Amino acid sequence: MKYVIMDLEWNGNRSPILGRHFNEIIEIGAVLLDESLNYVKDFSALITPKFNHRVSSRVKTLTHISDADLRYARELPEVIDHFTDWLGEDDNCVVTFGTGDILVLLENFEVYGIESAMQFMKHYCDLQPLCAAAIETKFDFQLSLADTAGGLGIEFDELDQHRALDDSIISAECFAAAYSAETFSSFVYRADEEFFRRVTFKNYSLTDTENEAIEPPMLMSSCPVCGAYLKRTSAFRQKSSSIRAECFCGKCGKEYEVRLYFKMKYDGISKRVNAEEKTAAETETTVTAATATATATVT
Ligand SMILES: [Zn+2]
Repeated sequence: MKYVIMDLEWNGNRSPILGRHFNEIIEIGAVLLDESLNYVKDFSALITPKFNHRVSSRVKTLTHISDADLRYARELPEVIDHFTDWLGEDDNCVVTFGTGDILVLLENFEVYGIESAMQFMKHYCDLQPLCAAAIETKFDFQLSLADTAGGLGIEFDELDQHRALDDSIISAECFAAAYSAETFSSFVYRADEEFFRRVTFKNYSLTDTENEAIEPPMLMSSCPVCGAYLKRTSAFRQKSSSIRAECFCGKCGKEYEVRLYFKMKYDGISKRVNAEEKTAAETETTVTAATATATATVT
């Protein structure tokens, strides 16, 4: 299998033609590595935009790509044809830093009406979790390419960051440094229909205890000190993306504010718990309030 480390630059702006925001691709860069991760060749092309002829000032500042640079480039369908020819027929794995590039490709192909254009991609690997695993940091969407390269001991300042080919070169170095057969096998996907359903799935927070996806035992939590189940002493309340309640550990005698974060992901629901021990003062207020409520209910 060959590896195609790819990076896109896009102009995210309101398109006067579409009448909405559109992330229009303006540059594609890629590096092809062979089975042994050796450099084979690279690809770089600017793209003449069709739906928004003005590059936003943010993108201009970031990429140094001007409207004039794009005027005499080629349009996306033609560039994709060249890119597909450049790739060849061999089995490949497309590698990008985060799935954003794949989502933008899908969005562009749809708007341009280029059907089955994603067929150039046989497998896919997201470089972000692969590198995070290699540098043993917790996978974090905030991790930038520069941070990742730094974490892997790669020097890159002579390259012009935020241009498609140069970012592909940095990414290719990160990929080669982070690669092991074992980590790669856990992050590679066959680019089939299921993969595209997965990559386009939008995670969302669940904050309603009545939601059927949240089964009652999932609302239980345990004491961070002794592991015993906590007894809930207040009603659940929803705040920002969490479900919160006051809880008490009968074994330790500690009061906690428990925050439950439920997220619906492609593979199912995930739960994160944050139990913050309450200070004596906070506990006193809660107890007083609880007593007051109880009294009120009794009367
Ligand atoms: Zn406890």
